[in-house]
Amino acid sequence: MRKPLIAGNWKLQKTIPEAAELAGELKNELADFTGADLLVCPPFIDLGVVGEEISGSPIELGAQDIFWEDTGAFTGEVSGPMLKSAGCSYVIVGHSERRGYFGDTDEVVNKKLTAAIRSVIIPILCVGESLEKREQKVTKEYLRKQIGASIHGIGYEWISRIVVAYEPIWAIGTGLTASPKMANETHYFIRELFAEHYDDSIAKNLRILYGGSVKPDNARALIAEEDIDGFLIGGASLKADSFATIARYSIL
Ligand code: PEP
Repeated sequence: MRKPLIAGNWKLQKTIPEAAELAGELKNELADFTGADLLVCPPFIDLGVVGEEISGSPIELGAQDIFWEDTGAFTGEVSGPMLKSAGCSYVIVGHSERRGYFGDTDEVVNKKLTAAIRSVIIPILCVGESLEKREQKVTKEYLRKQIGASIHGIGYEWISRIVVAYEPIWAIGTGLTASPKMANETHYFIRELFAEHYDDSIAKNLRILYGGSVKPDNARALIAEEDIDGFLIGGASLKADSFATIARYSIL
């Protein structure tokens, strides 16, 4: 049985006081929540204050990115040991905005995934096709290559702990959502890929989140699908009540 994971990606939003306020509201809303794992991924600068605010609550702390080296002359970067010391138990790796705006290739994503594992932080590997690829009907080929390159060299012990987030690029921040059926079909395909690369047990236990304009309005139908194990939420994670509503739907 896969436990759902409901994760919020705050992206480049919330100053330190604003982040503290939102984290406090989330803690109030979700203090007694059980049945799914909850995660917030604020900007690096907010990790300290958010970690303090959510302490003692069921909400865990994650980062939005990680550098592939642990230490050294890499101005502006943040490493796995640093994230660990800030209390992060998860890190998002390979978000399409990192891939698109900052040039994170599959090879870079693989190095970041490896760095997270080295620091015992669970990576949330984001994958997903562009509208162009979807329209060309090459989504499966694209995902096969993207996932194969991203998980290259990751052994059994860790592959059983990573989380995958399927985020069709055309659905992120656009208000467009993959239909529950379309999303589920793609999740099923991703699970099959993991069975090919590893085995059925790894595939069966892999948590695959859906991301792309998830809101209280569509969350219920999406989570009802067999292969959707939770969400990576952008916009709707910035309001405590909508994040909490989505979390509650995930355990109905
Ligand atoms: C995301 O940030 O990964 C995301 C899916 O954003 P949104 O929910 O706003 O589409």
